[in-house]
Amino acid sequence: MADSPSAEPHPGLCDPVPPHAVPATPARPPQRAPEWPRCTLPALPAGRSYRFHTMVKPVGSRCNLDCGYCFYLSKAALLGHERQARMDDAVLAQHVRQTIEANTGNEVVFSWQGGEPTLAGLPFFERVVALQARYARPGQRIENDLQTNGVLLDDAWVAFLARHRFLVGLSLDGPRDIHDRARPTRGGTPSFDRALAAARRLAAAGVPFAVLAVVHRDSARRPLDVYRFLARESGSTRLQFTPCVEPRDFRAQAPSQRAPESLPRVGSARARPGHALSVVTEWSVDAHDYGQFLCVVWDDWLAHDFGRVHVNLFESAIAQSLGLPAQLCTAAPICGKALALEHDGRLYACDHFVYPTHELGHIGRQHAGDLAFSTAQVAFGLAKHDTLPSDCRACPHLALCWGECPKNRLLRTRTGEPGLNYLCEGLQAFCSRVARDLPAIRARLGR
Ligand code: SF4
Ligand code: SF4
Repeated sequence: MADSPSAEPHPGLCDPVPPHAVPATPARPPQRAPEWPRCTLPALPAGRSYRFHTMVKPVGSRCNLDCGYCFYLSKAALLGHERQARMDDAVLAQHVRQTIEANTGNEVVFSWQGGEPTLAGLPFFERVVALQARYARPGQRIENDLQTNGVLLDDAWVAFLARHRFLVGLSLDGPRDIHDRARPTRGGTPSFDRALAAARRLAAAGVPFAVLAVVHRDSARRPLDVYRFLARESGSTRLQFTPCVEPRDFRAQAPSQRAPESLPRVGSARARPGHALSVVTEWSVDAHDYGQFLCVVWDDWLAHDFGRVHVNLFESAIAQSLGLPAQLCTAAPICGKALALEHDGRLYACDHFVYPTHELGHIGRQHAGDLAFSTAQVAFGLAKHDTLPSDCRACPHLALCWGECPKNRLLRTRTGEPGLNYLCEGLQAFCSRVARDLPAIRARLGR
């Protein structure tokens, strides 16, 4: 299900500054083997706490689907993973223990992702919740979210998810023809019916779930077909849209490694998909189409579903417009609090930077808390702000956009400055639409 750059069923996880009004408490596990890495983070002043979360890949990039736009299937070759990648019990125990130790607030969120995490099997997740119960501190709330394609979600799975109050992110791109074109099984058969059946099971069992839809080059041109299906027929009232933007060389090279002079200028043919020398893959969404998609969906949502359907991008934009923090890392001024853990224990800066150049270390040798707040990771998060080109700094939409995700900063400005977001044209259109409608929204909210 690795198709979602910033899927965050728990809003605000990527807030740059730990905001909990909870006294920092030194975390010590109930039992500790001498060889376990220790957390050396200094205590914070009263009222502050350490907070981060990690997207875990229990089976690496392994998946039972073969989505045409997946950015993660290629990690097996890039990182030299074994064919049957799987997190062993020692790495799992370290992850659970270290995450609970290092998050010093009253809530800890675990995210299980892939590849397809359900391939790890139910017994793996039974061990997860047992380990969490073992290491949780008194009064600490443990939350889990699972991002899945839904193919394996039978009654036993759904009962487990309901019993342990997992929040599920289910990949569903829209109506049958849109979904099936992009998301076949490894055998080439359609997956729509199984994804929708999973949605039905989750809804029937009362498991809270969000639908995660990738907006790619084709689906962006059918905004109402996508939105109305998801909002009215998926059974979920939480929707997350993720723009599909993949640099042409994403399988081999991290976005940050590209030579600035090789980036195309905004407005040039290479800055759009479909050109032989385009900076992005054929299936990446066109920036103009993405803006149109968001504006059309926004209008429909505002007219019919405001307050009933929760669209993460929209609600974050409204919150930010009202002076509240961003609910998505992509819309925040800095990032770096959403890491990625591979099945082999290697920790990376972000789900979209799982490249050797962005490996922070191994949790068997260094504590995840130390790695999450290491100099390298702090610099990674600050770079989101510090490398903004002057176009962004002067942009009227900066406080809503913040240059979006650094992964997507694939263009040069018209004056040749590197680091402009590939989606800029669409982001500007969307932010203008939000600004246009803000007075009416304020009136509806009484603010
Ligand atoms: S690079 Fe930053 S903004 Fe982009 S997905 Fe990762 S944490 Fe979020
Ligand atoms: S809309 Fe474009 S110029 Fe403005 S902050 Fe976003 S990426 Fe930068």
